[in-house]
Amino acid sequence: MQDRQSLGDTPPDEFRKQLHEIADWIADYRENIGERPIAPNIKPGAILAQLDNLPPEIGTSLDDIFADLYRVIIPGVAHWAHPQFMSYFGCTTTSPGILAEMITGALNVNAMTWRTSPAATELETLVLDWLRQWLGLPSEFQGVVYDTASISTMHALATAREAVAPNTREMGLSGRDLPNFRIYASDQAHSSVEKGAIAIGIGENNVRRVPSDSEFKMDVAALRKMIAQDRQEHFRTMAVVATVGTTSTASVDPIPEIAKVCREEKMWLHIDGAYGAGLALLPEHKSITAGWDEADSIVINPHKMLFVPFDFSALYVRDLERLRRLFALEPEHLHLRDPKSAEINYMDYGVQLGRRFRALKAWVVWRAFGREGIASRIRDHLRLAKLFADWIKIDNRFEIAAPVSMGVVCFRFVGSPEEKIDKLNSEIVEQINASGRAYLTQTKLRGRTVMRIGLGNVLTTEEHLRKVWEMIRTTVEAA
Ligand code: PLP
Repeated sequence: MQDRQSLGDTPPDEFRKQLHEIADWIADYRENIGERPIAPNIKPGAILAQLDNLPPEIGTSLDDIFADLYRVIIPGVAHWAHPQFMSYFGCTTTSPGILAEMITGALNVNAMTWRTSPAATELETLVLDWLRQWLGLPSEFQGVVYDTASISTMHALATAREAVAPNTREMGLSGRDLPNFRIYASDQAHSSVEKGAIAIGIGENNVRRVPSDSEFKMDVAALRKMIAQDRQEHFRTMAVVATVGTTSTASVDPIPEIAKVCREEKMWLHIDGAYGAGLALLPEHKSITAGWDEADSIVINPHKMLFVPFDFSALYVRDLERLRRLFALEPEHLHLRDPKSAEINYMDYGVQLGRRFRALKAWVVWRAFGREGIASRIRDHLRLAKLFADWIKIDNRFEIAAPVSMGVVCFRFVGSPEEKIDKLNSEIVEQINASGRAYLTQTKLRGRTVMRIGLGNVLTTEEHLRKVWEMIRTTVEAA
């Protein structure tokens, strides 16, 4: 028998040793992550400057490769898993998630068709149905897993487009006598709506941003007005994208009222619950799901609130067959099935052919925590967000910049002359991030710069939060 080395792989005993070393490294990393600088304070190009820019002609020993990894790469990473990393939504790493990703790497299967890996396909169907049940969606909603919410929303909008411009799959949009299509989303919605519109030939100028109210929720009266105006001008009003958990403030659009508009106007309702839909796992927040059953599609990213490692986005479509009809093609070389078979080929439900085995990590993490385990940690994140807001409220140098929603708090330093405040808020965030001891986000609300934290990391405790608050106060005092 040929030995592994001559085949280009590592001999088994050596591989086992390497695996143990990496396992130890990962365990140490996770145990001591709180002691690392969260992000490097370096200029663009600093990492590249330390690496060989010639492609490797001959193989390098793993000892040398890992020496570079520890010397250059790890110190150049932003450590999202650090308990004082409070940027974006605080998406969490979990130990079961790390283990599942290692196994996924070892299996390295392609989940494009049922035959290319039956378990990958069937596990995808299973975890999508678990999540559907957790979200309280009726059984006519079925899902598909993509990498990101942007891709999910693009596929949802493509399906919506097919409803107003039939046969676009075959004929495309150009050279046909079609009206201009319009999509509506609030001024707080994520830019993935525009990206989707660009990708499917609708055009970003045909995404109309509906004003939001004082709580950053879509103003439904304004939506109605825009639709009426567009109709008068002979636009074809195609879809509304309503958000549950907007990117800046985690505000929630009034879904039941928006659903009513969509019903009356015969428009597609897509819900972007990339972050916020996860809250449905908490029975005391079930009211958030009002109107979801009237949607045509809904996206959730379990890698944001629901503990699954990057990347995992679930798109649910009422009558998923419409999505399949839009994208299913059967290349000869895949030797597909007889059409009556029960095989699901997830490649039929989107643009991509090859697909990672993402379902495994969701299956491992969700079983390891159970809904109760996830809900109890989310509950603590919500408590911490409220506590942080309470600290802000009693310090008159700061103000809360938006209603506190989910794990997100937007706040603003206001203890300076008005004309300096935006710049100062931005500088405070930059200084804190450069310190390596905390990591915040800055965003703009109604044109004003605000600071923002997002809590979602399972390792973040009240003590971490208190330290970050102290750091913000000290930075402000020195400003
Ligand atoms: N929708 C919302 C509300 C978001 O906050 C984001 C990103 O943060 C997205 C969509 C896009 O997510 P993704 O990075 O998965 O494409």
